[in-house]
Amino acid sequence: MTDHASVSSDAVDAAGGRGCVAVVGAGAMGSGIAQVAAQAGHDVILVDAREGAAQAAVERLGATLGTLAGKGRITQEDADAARSRLSCVDDLRSLPSCRLVVEAVVEDLEAKREIFATLASRQDADTILASNTSSLSITAIAEGIAHPERIIGLHFFNPPPLMRLVEVVRGARSGADTMTEAVELMTAWGKTPVRCTSTPGFIVNRVARPFYGEAQRMVQEGICSAATVDEALRQAGFRMGPLELTDLIGQDVNLAVGTSVWEQTDHDPRYEPTAFQQDLVAQGALGRKTGHGVYRYDDAGKPLDAEPDLAAVTALVGGPVRTDPVARTVAMLVNEAVAVVARGEAAPEDVDTAMRLGTNYPRGPIEWGREIGLDVVGAQLEELAAIYPTGRYRPSKGLHLPQVVTPAGVSTPG
Ligand code: NAD
Repeated sequence: MTDHASVSSDAVDAAGGRGCVAVVGAGAMGSGIAQVAAQAGHDVILVDAREGAAQAAVERLGATLGTLAGKGRITQEDADAARSRLSCVDDLRSLPSCRLVVEAVVEDLEAKREIFATLASRQDADTILASNTSSLSITAIAEGIAHPERIIGLHFFNPPPLMRLVEVVRGARSGADTMTEAVELMTAWGKTPVRCTSTPGFIVNRVARPFYGEAQRMVQEGICSAATVDEALRQAGFRMGPLELTDLIGQDVNLAVGTSVWEQTDHDPRYEPTAFQQDLVAQGALGRKTGHGVYRYDDAGKPLDAEPDLAAVTALVGGPVRTDPVARTVAMLVNEAVAVVARGEAAPEDVDTAMRLGTNYPRGPIEWGREIGLDVVGAQLEELAAIYPTGRYRPSKGLHLPQVVTPAGVSTPG
């Protein structure tokens, strides 16, 4: 089972026949999800509130599939077949009954609730109704809607055709069968699903917070330059340093995600935004898109002031945790990851898979914590908590949980 065509036929089997998939919202995410579903063998119907947007997306996707075939990534036959499965309708109310409907409209609770209410009254009671929201509560979206057991989150990453990870998100009233069916369907689509409960940021957008927050704090405190922090983390195996990455994402976008998690956790000090980033946003230094963020960029997007002090990297790494960019960041990532497990929101292996695939971290944070020693991480956090007694660095009880300490499938003697 190595070629694409056999994945497609598996998908159709798993879907219980050629089930149709509808995608509401034909923007960046909706189009990508539609492409994945069509390539997995489903008839896909796009719908968008903006006139002509769904039709334009179908045409764009046709061109994309043609390009993939031209480059030899898929066969011409598969491209033609996927293209022939894509269509659109003008109105949500014109959708036929589907196997799965994925909502990917603007990130607004009221807009999403209205769509789910309409879908709930027109789709079958066993149609999976999924939201691609990155920050809203699945429980809140499903509130007051008939048969809430069919409502879940399917959080795809950008761009959906390339990113393997999908967080399959359980709201308070999502059905266990719906979750299992969605996990099977995502696997059949060639994705790697992880299960989690609907909590602020789900797995990836929550566990990743300290990657940005610790780097910002170290620069804010004058411990070292931005370029030095970035270099230290690149040397530790991260593809990009946290500060150059936030310049790429956009300081405003990154701050909005962090602030949303902070607000939804009753202002837990673990997620408190930094003055460093708030000042950047207030000054309009949003990153590459404005030519100035943490770094300044030339017209070609090349940073002009990102020279690290290599001697400083060597001096800091391996020293006290407060001034070691790698130890300080990794300790906090491990703490966040085990806290997700301790709250019962996801399994340790799903947290590690989510972070490796969703953020490209060199190792899953829990596996990384085991390598360093969870007791060592605990001691590093205690050291930080003594220096900064704000609650941000409090060690999670997850550091001591048996399923965290010992990987699944590994039994300890006795
Ligand atoms: P987008 O702005 O590119 O597309 C949204 C589309 O929805 C637009 O075409 C718009 O016309 C349409 N729309 C708006 N209101 C509608 C309605 N009431 N009915 C039908 N269509 C409507 O947005 P996007 O980046 O594709 O994001 C969509 C969703 O996916 C959001 O919930 C976002 O949080 C989530 N998400 C985005 C990313 C990302 O990186 N962009 C990643 C994961 C999840």
